[in-house]
Amino acid sequence: MLKWIMRLAAALAVFVIAAGWWLFAGFSKAPAAAPGLLDIDQWRSMIRDAGGDLPTEIRVLEVGHDSAPMLAARAGAFTGQWLTSYNSVQVVFPDSTLVIGGALDRSTSEGMVQSPEDWSFDDAAYRKVVDAMLTADKVLMTHEHPDHVMAIARHPDPDALAPRLWLNAPQSATLPQFANGELPAVLRDLPPRLDGTVQWVAPGVVAIPMAGHSPGAQLFFVTLQNGHEYLMIGDTVWSMSSIEDLTMRPVFTQFVVFDPDEDRAAIRKQVRAIHDLMQANPQLTVFPSHDRIWLGKLSEEGRIIWGFAD
Ligand SMILES: [Zn+2]
Ligand SMILES: [Zn+2]
Repeated sequence: MLKWIMRLAAALAVFVIAAGWWLFAGFSKAPAAAPGLLDIDQWRSMIRDAGGDLPTEIRVLEVGHDSAPMLAARAGAFTGQWLTSYNSVQVVFPDSTLVIGGALDRSTSEGMVQSPEDWSFDDAAYRKVVDAMLTADKVLMTHEHPDHVMAIARHPDPDALAPRLWLNAPQSATLPQFANGELPAVLRDLPPRLDGTVQWVAPGVVAIPMAGHSPGAQLFFVTLQNGHEYLMIGDTVWSMSSIEDLTMRPVFTQFVVFDPDEDRAAIRKQVRAIHDLMQANPQLTVFPSHDRIWLGKLSEEGRIIWGFAD
């Protein structure tokens, strides 16, 4: 009898270890190669061919921040903290602006608190994002998740926002689902303006559809007048250490965060492609939405500026 109990306990222990490995460490590594996924020469030639006055600055306005165990952002990272920024990006031209991302509002932020000591929300910054959308030529988003759309979904003047809002088809289709409440009809019924291909959207700015994290996920390639090149990668990864380690979020996040699920196979390839693009173009500034330490480093290097232009 004791022998059977021991065997059962051993089998149970093996099962628990295997399940833990699957949930928190396994099936998250990038493949050895992902050829043809990111074509920087195509983006550069689109920008060159279209011409126009290129932007002069990239600005990032943080509306809130938080922290979580790094394990949430990178499989197998059993130590370390992920400092999380929630923000919106402003691309500044000589006479105009673009806004990319609607961040989150206070009530959405309060519903997502991970670490009460590190969490904060800046109401004045959120109001600034809302206002900046109405002076921008275009308002776009990297993807349709709630922490990237709320200043759009709950904008106090949706009629003024709608003509500026440039979404792709999956973003238009799923915005009502992620808007955390009733979406104004003028936004709900807005037809997509992006065509779902790699597309020039403004001088120096190209949108690159990259379904995976969500169906409507897209990257933005931006070239400034001074020649600096940027790739905004949204939530493809949450921490740039995922690119360095070629390791995406753990399977666990699929069960506790995402509905619908991410396309993990697509993201693993994207992690490889971004990694290899950075190796081949060391001057390229890659930045994800939420990596607060990385954004701080870019600010110190003068690559981005905190806060929106007035
Ligand atoms: Zn997301
Ligand atoms: Zn996000």
